[in-house]
Amino acid sequence: MPIDTQAPETAGTAGTAGVAGTAAEAPALDLRDVFKIYNEAGASGASGTETETVALRGLDLRVERGEVVALMGRSGAGKSTLLNLIGGMDTPSAGRVRVDGQDVGRLDEAGRAALRRRLVGFVFQDNNLLPYLSARENVALCATLAGRPDATARADALLDEVGLSERATHRPDELSGGERQRVGVACALAGEPAVVLADEITGELDSATAERLITLVIDLGRRARAAVLLVTHNPEVASRADRALTIRDGALAPLTPLVEA
Ligand code: ADP
Ligand code: MG
Repeated sequence: MPIDTQAPETAGTAGTAGVAGTAAEAPALDLRDVFKIYNEAGASGASGTETETVALRGLDLRVERGEVVALMGRSGAGKSTLLNLIGGMDTPSAGRVRVDGQDVGRLDEAGRAALRRRLVGFVFQDNNLLPYLSARENVALCATLAGRPDATARADALLDEVGLSERATHRPDELSGGERQRVGVACALAGEPAVVLADEITGELDSATAERLITLVIDLGRRARAAVLLVTHNPEVASRADRALTIRDGALAPLTPLVEA
């Protein structure tokens, strides 16, 4: 597969779309010329004593459904900023962020909250489960918030996929760390999101546990036909992706030696 940070505007309409794209379907992710500037001069109306940080500077990215992209780059490069824009936690200073065809920059707070619930699946390092709910109830709650009427059936199907059917009635404190993470992945996929975001989720894990978690995120994400974005410092994790990109000077570049070697 060609390494390309930026598909041309016409891709997908000529029958040449990537992994899972069709002419009728918007790409899961489509970012054009995106800028994110923190403490922008004049934005706060203050006297300009704060330092402006240009975190993203004309970034382009297109990811099709079912495609897995690893995102690398040094600390402070703008990886979390990019995920925050895609997840609707923040809006771009300039440029366009489209998730499943929806322009995030044009949504109000309520619209972005709905986008987060329905279209974006977050995998957290500490999995964010509610301690007093069982595994099944946790996943069913995620499915309900994502707007699924069949929440409990959906939870059971996902717990089966992550190999936790036998543990469905256990609360988080009755599960191992690895099992809790699998419940967290089931939660992220509960609404069949267009995009799955994982920001350095394996940083604290030993390599075998990290490997299992990443395999699960990739397999379930692909099966759900989501675009999967994995932020990582680990070259082994990056090598599992369809494409590995790095953020440098606020824009994306292919990580060619790693992927093509
Ligand atoms: P990474 O995730 O790659 O480590 P971040 O996206 O967190 O990088 O940060 C990119 C740059 O933007 C850094 O210089 C960081 O200090 C700055 N930054 C991030 N969030 C904020 C914020 N809320 N306010 C001001 N500056 C920020
Ligand atoms: Mg970060």
